Amino acid sequence: MTVAELPQTIVPNPSWRKRIEGLSGQKISACYQCEKCTNGCPVTFAMDIVPDKLMRAIHFGLKEEVLRSDTIWVCASCETCTTRCPNGIDIAHVMDTLRQTSLEEGIKPAQKDIPIFHSAFLSSIKRHGRIHEIEMIIDYTLRSEGPSGLLRQACKYSVTQEYLLYCLRAFLPSLSQPLVWFTLSSSTQSQ
Ligand code: SF4
Ligand code: SF4
Repeated sequence: MTVAELPQTIVPNPSWRKRIEGLSGQKISACYQCEKCTNGCPVTFAMDIVPDKLMRAIHFGLKEEVLRSDTIWVCASCETCTTRCPNGIDIAHVMDTLRQTSLEEGIKPAQKDIPIFHSAFLSSIKRHGRIHEIEMIIDYTLRSEGPSGLLRQACKYSVTQEYLLYCLRAFLPSLSQPLVWFTLSSSTQSQ
């Protein structure tokens, strides 16, 4: 969706704006469209609705347009917009709230691979208390591209014993768990 594709006639829906304000704790209605957030954002080139326009869309209660936008998934949570906003609106936190709301409402993400990446990242932290990069990348590749993605990755990069073990874990989690922990502890000790 582009800004030009937003509805030309808008019937404001303040209840949805108030809901997002309540969930995020941010007074979005204070936004006066100065565009400082958008001018500092490093990823506007990949967004369909730039941050200041997204704030305006929330203000009008354009729930479908906001929750189905690429923007809420493309946002890198860098917080540049938050530090630049003269009204103290934590725009990055609003983006977090919108992603959460979108998932809770079962809306298909406009950027399907980004929630998969977030999930692989959090799963790795849940399992190890930190990120284990190889496992996370294998998990992400398997979920986003399937087995053919793992094969492509294995052909492209040099395949190590650790990589193969984590692939095994992805396919047979219960059988491979002891092997994975052994490999993880060995690699940690050698660092
Ligand atoms: S937090 Fe998101 S919207 Fe804000 S500047 Fe960073 S990438 Fe852009
Ligand atoms: S910087 Fe703040 S006030 Fe300015 S457009 Fe962005 S959200 Fe609105």
